[in-house]
Amino acid sequence: MGRTKTESIPADVYIQFVRSLFDNAHMLLIGGACYSILGVMIYLRTRNPLFLAFSFALLSVSLIRYFGIRGFLKTGGVIADVEHAQRLERSYILKGCLQGLGLGSLCFVSIYVYPDPFAELAAMSLTLATLVTVVARNYGSPRMVRIFSVTFIGPAALALLLRMDAPSVVLGLMIIPMTFITITGADHVRNVLFSAVIGHKQARNLTRRFDRALNTMSHGLVMLGPDGRVAVANAEAAHLMSLKSADALLGRSIHGLLMRGVAGGMLAPKDCRYIEAQLTRALREGRDRKVLVSLANGQHYEFSAREGSQELGVITFEDVTARVEAEEKIRFMARYDNLTGLPNRAYFHELAGEAMASGDRDRLCGLAVLDLDDFKSVNDTLGHPVGDGLIYAVAERLAAVAGPGINVSRFGGDEFMIYFDRIEDESHLSSLLDDIFADLQGEVDVAGHGLRIQTSGGAVLSIVKDTDVDAMIVKADLALYKAKELGKNSWRLFEASMDAAFRNRQLMKADLRSAVQAKELRVVYQPIVSMSTMRIASCEALCRWDHPDLGPVSPSIFIPLAEEMGIISEISSFVLQAACAECAKWPAQTSVSINLSAKDFRNREVVQKVRDALAAAGLAPHRLEIEVTETALLDDKSLTRELIEELKTLGVRIALDDFGTGYSSLSYLHKLPLDKIKIDRSFLIDVTQSPKSLDLLKGIVGLTRTLGLTVTIEGVETFEQLKILVHSVKPDLVQGFLFGAALSASGIETMSNVTWPFAADLRLAAKRTAR
Ligand code: C2E
Ligand code: CA
Ligand code: CA
Repeated sequence: MGRTKTESIPADVYIQFVRSLFDNAHMLLIGGACYSILGVMIYLRTRNPLFLAFSFALLSVSLIRYFGIRGFLKTGGVIADVEHAQRLERSYILKGCLQGLGLGSLCFVSIYVYPDPFAELAAMSLTLATLVTVVARNYGSPRMVRIFSVTFIGPAALALLLRMDAPSVVLGLMIIPMTFITITGADHVRNVLFSAVIGHKQARNLTRRFDRALNTMSHGLVMLGPDGRVAVANAEAAHLMSLKSADALLGRSIHGLLMRGVAGGMLAPKDCRYIEAQLTRALREGRDRKVLVSLANGQHYEFSAREGSQELGVITFEDVTARVEAEEKIRFMARYDNLTGLPNRAYFHELAGEAMASGDRDRLCGLAVLDLDDFKSVNDTLGHPVGDGLIYAVAERLAAVAGPGINVSRFGGDEFMIYFDRIEDESHLSSLLDDIFADLQGEVDVAGHGLRIQTSGGAVLSIVKDTDVDAMIVKADLALYKAKELGKNSWRLFEASMDAAFRNRQLMKADLRSAVQAKELRVVYQPIVSMSTMRIASCEALCRWDHPDLGPVSPSIFIPLAEEMGIISEISSFVLQAACAECAKWPAQTSVSINLSAKDFRNREVVQKVRDALAAAGLAPHRLEIEVTETALLDDKSLTRELIEELKTLGVRIALDDFGTGYSSLSYLHKLPLDKIKIDRSFLIDVTQSPKSLDLLKGIVGLTRTLGLTVTIEGVETFEQLKILVHSVKPDLVQGFLFGAALSASGIETMSNVTWPFAADLRLAAKRTAR
């Protein structure tokens, strides 16, 4: 082992070494006493006063060194820094030098200068005895050790050599290696201590780092010893287990710790058994197994166990409450509709599927789909927030129906789905649905708007084993479709014929596409008669499709199909061109009107199409009228209105069709770019019997007039109706089967100058009432 150099040792170790020089000061006193006593004894034998002087000098040096050390110890014995240590070492060496020189000189004088056998023996004994203590007292300062070795042995060896007799020379030579033995011995002691100190320091650093790492972990950690008890634990483990410090965990077993949780009411006994089993298994199998535990206070801990080296099993655990809650939230969001909080489509499907898979498979189950009537108009006229409010109100009422065996879901948009897990028979399902419809009836207040809830429904009843959720949804949808077709605000039960109807619809779509492509549709014209002249003022172009097998198909069937298929604008263009071309052939006072669908206004091309058709036919724009429905006008407001304004600037007139069938509101009429209102025929139905209906009709016509709009009343079928119109309602124009159904273009040409024969009677009657 090499010598430790002061420069190569760390400052704190150097300081520690210097500090060791100040230990065992009493040895200096003992030394001092021995020097003075032996010095006096030599003097008494030799009567040489020089020895008395040595005695005094050596005692003095010993005392100076002793009190120097005491003085340092009295100030606390603390070495502040390296410089301080260096100063102390220098002063120590200086005093040590004096002692070394004194003792060395004593040997030299008693061996060579005033040789005396007792003095020689006493001086050598003292020197060698002191040399022995050098290692023990001064290993901390290699320089001091070297100085002592040389000053003690050097003068004695020199004196022996100078005597020049053989035994003395041999002895002189023999004691020289003592110097090296002492130096090597001290170096060895220092190196051993140095390694120990460094080793200790490293161990302390390691422990500190380990502690730091352990206690800054976000996980709780416990290490189990071979006896299955906690050998190491960190602060977080104590915190998570509501213990004061990690030490409180030491020595406990997993079972003991879990039982603490049970005793504190945080863990159920069965959870405790489960966790213990899982952790023990993980520790045994050496696998990284995770166990999630939900505590009574709503917290969630996740444990993982791993077998470590030397049978030290490691269990880590953490509070994963935030993560578990986030996951639950995500799961909730994926399963529930965020507006209504009802299960969404996917989750409903799962729930209904699970319910159908269990229990008696021969039982009956039911499924109903509900769809709000004219919900789109609510959204369009009152805005989406109000629409959402209406959906919410409906959801609230439906949620009250849900319960064991009844699942309610918002399927999307304004559609809701209900699954009934056990139905006794058809009348049971009927009464359930009737109750639901009754609950839904009535007005709701949404942001100050009193809205009436109107719903249509479709339902299906099936034996569980014969069907599945998807098939039931398709059937309920078909029944809903039928309910809407038959007049809304009611529900229908699925019947086999509806399935056929659905298939027919699909077939019909294919046929319609080829008919449109082959231009097999035709256009007929229904007269619109002026009340003042009782002659045809205009004609409405209506599209006709004669199906090769089914015969004539009503436009109320094929127009929605064409809209659905996205081919409506092809039909519109076809009718537009034909109507313009035909009208150009009629007398100048006869106009033509065409129907455009809401979908036609999705595309800017419509304006150019009208312009082209007018130009191609050479028809004056004021002879063309375009009928649009409220839905078209309210749909995607900005573009539709913009296009209608453009059409108006072409000189074409715009009529609002089917007024009174949607969310009609007189209040917005003046905001729309209209020339005419066509009042739906439903207003005429009981006008002859009900004075209330008549008043309503009169009111609407009067109001429309004040807005400067022309009024047409559709669906005049009887003479009675016409009479009332002539006498009290007084619209500008009338249209209906009374004046004829739609005719071919040439039919109109012939009729255009006809005055209806009953016109004369009516005028007469009118004059009579006037008088
Ligand atoms: P609409 O625009 O209200 O057309 C009037 C409908 O009422 C026509 O039915 C007509 O035949 C019928 N009608 C006329 N007078 C009476 C009457 O006194 N009593 C009864 N009960 N009905 C009467 P049609 O031709 O079956 O058309 C139905 C609907 O199909 C039309 O209703 C219109 O919305 C749509 N439609 C027809 N042709 C076209 C078209 O070329 N393009 C577009 N986009 N829609 C069209
Ligand atoms: Ca129309
Ligand atoms: Ca109409």
